[in-house]
Amino acid sequence: MKLLLCNRSSRPADAWLGALRQALPGAQVDEWRPGLPPDYDMALVWSPPQQLFDEQPRLRAVFNLGAGVDKLLALRLPPMLQVLRLQDAGMAVQMAEYVCHALIRFYREFATYERQQQAGDWSPQPLRARSDFPVGILGLGVLGTRVAQAVQTFDFPVRGFSRTPRAPGTLEGVRCYAGDAELNDFLQATRVLVCLLPLTPDTRGLLNRERLRQLQPGAYLINVARGALIVEDDLRQVLDEGHLAGAMLDVFDEEPLPPGHWLWSQPGVGITPHISGMTLMDETVAQVAQAVQALARGQTPPGLVQRQRGY
Ligand code: NAP
Repeated sequence: MKLLLCNRSSRPADAWLGALRQALPGAQVDEWRPGLPPDYDMALVWSPPQQLFDEQPRLRAVFNLGAGVDKLLALRLPPMLQVLRLQDAGMAVQMAEYVCHALIRFYREFATYERQQQAGDWSPQPLRARSDFPVGILGLGVLGTRVAQAVQTFDFPVRGFSRTPRAPGTLEGVRCYAGDAELNDFLQATRVLVCLLPLTPDTRGLLNRERLRQLQPGAYLINVARGALIVEDDLRQVLDEGHLAGAMLDVFDEEPLPPGHWLWSQPGVGITPHISGMTLMDETVAQVAQAVQALARGQTPPGLVQRQRGY
């Protein structure tokens, strides 16, 4: 099997090539560059150029070195190409810690205590009722499920929303909603909204002014999925009018977030540079090796993306 690596976010490529060659001794693994012979079987990619697919028509599969395939599916891919993606691979626990940190920061008013410290002000704030902080997880996939479980350990009420309904008891203790018809009920039952949806034609711009206003007053938003799920101008309005009390954002319409962008200085908004779930090399290489072995046996590899639904 001949494999091509095109990982544009993670340098140096040598470490990845070494780890892949060690995990797949029977395979040839090369770093992509323009003009290679058109005889590769599988590509391992993050942010690849269109040229890679134009030059490699014999690819059977492409493995996305991240969980979200929105950018990859926006390219012109051969219709029969199998698209595989990373599942968890150490990202779920990172997401859980990021979301719990943000949630507890909001709930326990740590931003207030930071301001008080600057002023030398020793003023305990009254503890707020946990029942007033229902957490809604938008997207109950691999990452959303792990986050829901982590949030439950702190005894917050947890709601979840997915495209297809969850069988009763699948996610114990989580009140589950599904489908467009239940979206408003889910939002109205949520004070802290955690966004963990894939970016697809159905979810782009899903969180607009009307939907953000459905959240409980004094709501908080934690977006760790994709920036384009939220209409940024609408977010600004809902923050300015105070319906949203704060947000913790890891992903943006445009990345890096441009200098001078209003979000950098918006009161109540925390910003991180797309680090909530980072790709880890060892875990990733292990999943790639599993996929390669499954393909070689003619089996369906884990993490197969349903291209028509976009995730
Ligand atoms: P996943 O396992 O595919 O789960 C996706 C979830 O979203 C599923 O529960 C799915 O519903 C639901 N969903 C999809 N379309 C929907 C719609 N139109 N309405 C309602 N629910 C919908 O994905 P994952 O591995 O958890 O990852 C989620 C996303 O996180 C990725 O796509 C990526 O964009 C983002 N991510 C970000 C980072 C970062 O560093 N910021 C890192 C990793 C991933 P069903 O269960 O019914 O199918």
